[in-house]
Parts: sequence; C-alpha cells; structure tokens
Amino acid sequence: MRLALLGPPGAGKGTQAIRIAHRMKIAHLSSGDILRSEKSAGTPLGLKIRDFIDRGKLVPDDLMIRVMEDRVARIHGGFVLDGFPRTLVQAADLAGFLDSIHKPLDLVVNFVLDENVLSRRFEGRRVCPVCGSVYHLDTMPPEVPGLCDQDGQALVTRPDDQPDVVRERIKTYRLSVEPLVDFYKKREILVTLDAAGAPNDVTAAVVDLIRGNAGKKR
Ligand SMILES: [Zn+2]
Repeated sequence: MRLALLGPPGAGKGTQAIRIAHRMKIAHLSSGDILRSEKSAGTPLGLKIRDFIDRGKLVPDDLMIRVMEDRVARIHGGFVLDGFPRTLVQAADLAGFLDSIHKPLDLVVNFVLDENVLSRRFEGRRVCPVCGSVYHLDTMPPEVPGLCDQDGQALVTRPDDQPDVVRERIKTYRLSVEPLVDFYKKREILVTLDAAGAPNDVTAAVVDLIRGNAGKKR
C-alpha cells in the first residue's frame, strides 16, 4: 500500500500519518523529518536545504523532489507520504517517477475540515512564552485559566494563531491544494475524508478506506 495524505495544517495529518504507518506496517515518510535529517547529516544536499530553511524560505520544488524521490526509491514495502507532494509540480514529477518504477500511489487521502472548526483549533491555542508548553482552551485548558501549569506564566496567543492570520493561512492552503486535488481526482485515486472526529475515529476511517481499496483491486 502506497499512499499520500493531503490536509490543512491543524487537521492532524502528521499524527494520522504516524498512526496509519503503525497500523498498516508501512514506512512513514514525513517531508519535515526527512528535510531535518538531511540538514543535520551535512550532506551536499543537506547544506543546500539548510540554506533555504535558515533564510526562512520554502525548499524549492526540484530540491524537494530529489530528496523525497531518493527516499521513496529506497523503500521496499508500502509507505505513507506526509507533507509531500505539496505543489502540482511535485505531484506530477512524483507520479512520473513512481510510474517509471512501477510503484504508483494506490490512494491519496484528502483530509477536510469545516473552516470554523479549523479556525478554532488555532484560535483556541495558547502557549507559554517561557517553557513553550502548548494548551488549548477547548481540549487542553490549563488548570488556572490563562496561566501555565508548569511555571504560572501568563499564556499568550502566537502571532500565527491570531484570527486574521489564521483565515489567511487557511485561504492560502485552499488555493495551493486545489490543483493537487484535481490532479489526483483525474488519476482516480483521491478520497476525501472529514477529519473533524476524534483521532481514533479518523485513523479507523482511513484504515477502512485502505482495506476497502485493496479489496477492490483483488
Ligand atoms: Zn510555562
């Protein structure tokens, strides 16, 4: 089983990728983890990557593609891609590469979340400016409202989690994911899944999808 996950930040995609990999006994290929490990290994590729990350820039498509395809090529069984592909150029190149080694993706799961639910996941988040502990007003509130459990510091909202910034982030994501959704729809491997449920339920739904999909092919 070879699959990729699409979904907005805040939808729990990274958590789901880890759980799905564990349940299905396949490799978890997180672009974030892989970039970090290349970066710290200090390889020529890693140095290039570090250059972009340190300047706060996105790693360009060609570099991202090289790193991820190299990693995919070394996997013998199934895998779940998390955080890659993120652009149409990446998706198209990956598809060509996987076709050439006769290992096309079986399934792309597109996590969707109601915009208000998604906004609330960010807007309810509070962090401690001193120890970095993260809280959520709805799901993980501090014992004393507004104060860190560890050190009693006043909790703050990160600039990225302010309502207008969140709306802009969600809009940017929508625009960037649309071409990918169309691309995988045309290849008839896209499934859309509501990610609003409890993490356990979402994992179970994905596993059902994977098994149902494998069943169809038999
Ligand atoms: Zn603290």
